[in-house]
Amino acid sequence: MKSIKYFIQNLFILLLILVIGCKKEPPIILPEISTTVITNITNTSATSGGTITNDGNSPIWSRGVCWSINENPTVLDNKTSDESGIGVFTTSITGLTPNTTYYVRAYARNSQGLNYGNEVCFTTKNFSPALSEMLNSLPNIISWEIANLQGLIERNPGVAVLIQEKIDMLKRPALYNEIIEGNFFAEDSVTSVNGRHIPIIAVFPLEIMRHDASQSVTWIKNALPILENFMKTQMRYNYERIWYGFIIGNKGGGGAAYMEDKYTYESRTTPNRLPYEAILYHELSHSYIGNESLNQFLEVYIYNIIHTGSTDIQLWTYLRQPYTAYKAGNTGVYALFDIYQLIGHDGMSEAYKELYSLNPMYGEPLSTECKQVFINQAPENQKNNVSAILEAAKL
Ligand SMILES: [Zn+2]
Repeated sequence: MKSIKYFIQNLFILLLILVIGCKKEPPIILPEISTTVITNITNTSATSGGTITNDGNSPIWSRGVCWSINENPTVLDNKTSDESGIGVFTTSITGLTPNTTYYVRAYARNSQGLNYGNEVCFTTKNFSPALSEMLNSLPNIISWEIANLQGLIERNPGVAVLIQEKIDMLKRPALYNEIIEGNFFAEDSVTSVNGRHIPIIAVFPLEIMRHDASQSVTWIKNALPILENFMKTQMRYNYERIWYGFIIGNKGGGGAAYMEDKYTYESRTTPNRLPYEAILYHELSHSYIGNESLNQFLEVYIYNIIHTGSTDIQLWTYLRQPYTAYKAGNTGVYALFDIYQLIGHDGMSEAYKELYSLNPMYGEPLSTECKQVFINQAPENQKNNVSAILEAAKL
């Protein structure tokens, strides 16, 4: 009986020694991590991250987030690789597709292995309908402009190098994705005379054009209400699209302006060039009027309303070229300046409203019917003068 007592006693001491003697290192386990709630969601990117609350008694080798359009994403899907260590980290998820749901998990790895945080999901923002439509037509725009620019090279040997640079830029296979993923667009809207919102969107091919493309959107935003009021006609198109910097030269009409980027324009022209801003108004106005001289008047009108706030041509600071009123030989837009002074602002505005419905085409001389519109607006004692100016005007 005594021996059993001693045996138990000794066993107890032995166990005590074992427990004290085996004061081992804590066991290495998988790291514990949670996934950060998604913020800063855009069309193609978002912000997430994770918090490593326990390194599992081993240094964290790697950490980040992984994501997929399927649930339970792993590091074999898309992932970020962020700095190592315990604690909170923040990371950017990029290269996403608009209007798509993604699943995200933070991950951390130590010597024991890889562990994931909880799953979170989010949906990328969608492009506005107007921007979507532009981006859908982007591949076509690119191929049209390549063909257009190739046609320009022969006729413009002086700027052949610049044109070729544009062609090479447009031919890069990555261009389309760069535009989408880089958000190479600027968007705003303006309230039309009838209260409807007209989106104004610029899409551009290079990040360095962002400032000037955005500026162009602002210029159009200021110009469109002035144009609508003068024309006494609301914008026919649902939006104004600016294809900014894809081409050399400028063209416009049909709710779109194809603009040379401002930097290239100013690099290849002399200081007596027309202001880039005025050219933008010109191409915007072609969405109303085809005829070139009539359209140049709108360009000058918008520019001066914005810069001088006056409808008085005597106060205008921009008239394209030096202009002398009623000078014999005033043709084109300079003849229109003469007529503007004879029939007044409101008469001119009424004339343009009527001209809009008569649709004077680009590259065609003004019809007798169109010319009559100005004569109709002239006071009785000026009808002959207006008629004589129109006769010599070569409109
Ligand atoms: Zn034009």
